[in-house]
Amino acid sequence: MKAIVVGGGIMGLATAWALASEGHAVELFEQGPLPNPLASSMDEHRLIRHPYGDHVGYARMIDRAYAAWDLLWGDLGQRLYAATGTLALTGNGETWAERSAAALAAIGKSMREMPLDELPRRFPELDARGVERAFWMDTGGVLFAQDIVMALARLLAGRPNVVLHAETPVRTVDLEHGRIVTDAGVHHDADVVVVAAGAWVGRLLPADRRLIPSRQVVIYFNLPTDQRAIWTSYPMVIDKTGDVGLYLVPPAEGRGLKIGDHVFSRTGEPSAERQAHAEEMQPLLRRCRDLIKDFDRWRIERLKVCFYTVTDDERFVVEKQGARGWLMSPCSGHGFKFGAVMGLELARTIATGRDPAAHARWAAGLEGDKPS
Ligand SMILES: Cc1cc2nc3c(=O)[nH]c(=O)nc-3n(C[C@H](O)[C@H](O)[C@H](O)COP(=O)(O)OP(=O)(O)OC[C@H]3O[C@@H](n4cnc5c(N)ncnc54)[C@H](O)[C@@H]3O)c2cc1C
Repeated sequence: MKAIVVGGGIMGLATAWALASEGHAVELFEQGPLPNPLASSMDEHRLIRHPYGDHVGYARMIDRAYAAWDLLWGDLGQRLYAATGTLALTGNGETWAERSAAALAAIGKSMREMPLDELPRRFPELDARGVERAFWMDTGGVLFAQDIVMALARLLAGRPNVVLHAETPVRTVDLEHGRIVTDAGVHHDADVVVVAAGAWVGRLLPADRRLIPSRQVVIYFNLPTDQRAIWTSYPMVIDKTGDVGLYLVPPAEGRGLKIGDHVFSRTGEPSAERQAHAEEMQPLLRRCRDLIKDFDRWRIERLKVCFYTVTDDERFVVEKQGARGWLMSPCSGHGFKFGAVMGLELARTIATGRDPAAHARWAAGLEGDKPS
């Protein structure tokens, strides 16, 4: 079988890897360099964690996500992941952490509630005012996203059954006939075309209005020298106690310390010039000041702008379209952790003819841990 994959982010690359590993011929088209620094997947890190609010389907998928990463580490010959554990804080009427704990309990996983007096003892760098409940889970950690994407692209470049077309934007896709046309007007045909175009998907499939590009700004910080070692051994922190929810990614294995807010209200055009100003991040910075003791000594190193697609219900869209096409958009700002498993399972469904509708339900987090 021959497959065409449009998009060289984690989803396109992981699908190409899985198809090529099964012996299929793959051609992958990427509009920019491969990897493309503008892709959602190209940031120092992405988090993987079991707590998932009410989304029990995604919580259930996490073990398989880890198993898929292990397969990839085997092929890459390196493990691009640091385990950190997960600290989740709630307050101010927000119940995400307790709902996560309840959903996890229902599938036999334990997320431990931490007595509030334990919080300052274990994490004296945090100001616990406003925290009503705290939860801890030993699992969870940091995937070194851009290193993974770069390593995957290098791995695929060495596979005899894979052709990588960097700097080759695809202008149109015909999912009925398995055909794409590049900006240069060249036609390519295949048995299946997978569209994994991230936040640019609307250009290729304009009729699909479910996937809205969302502009995200994250802040990288320079830490005072005396604090660096402490934060390097910190867990990821998911804080939903203030007016703004935040996530903190510790600077594991020499990467940066990053904080973001997962707010969906910022929109824009993913190809436009990307600029951000500290002023637009004031609510997040205020929350950091309240939550992190000594925050005044932290310095903003840089702001990074990134785009991803969001859907109304934050579920992934992975669907068969036309006789020979798949739309692959597992995102809504939480897709990276599932990149390897999404690629492996889509390759399996394509190759074995497994029920596409069941696959779509699984990817939407509405079924078991694997497609039926
Ligand atoms: C700030 C931020 C924080 C996040 N945090 C997390 C997290 O902690 N955990 C987590 O699991 N997920 C997280 N995510 C989400 C995750 O990064 C994305 O879900 C994932 O990277 C999406 O991968 P993708 O391959 O679908 O898209 P992308 O990585 O954007 O790749 C799409 C590729 O397609 C190419 N392309 C587009 N159109 C064309 C065309 N016409 N022709 C050729 N090529 C084309 C693009 O250039 C791009 O390289 C976060 C995202 C952001 C932005």
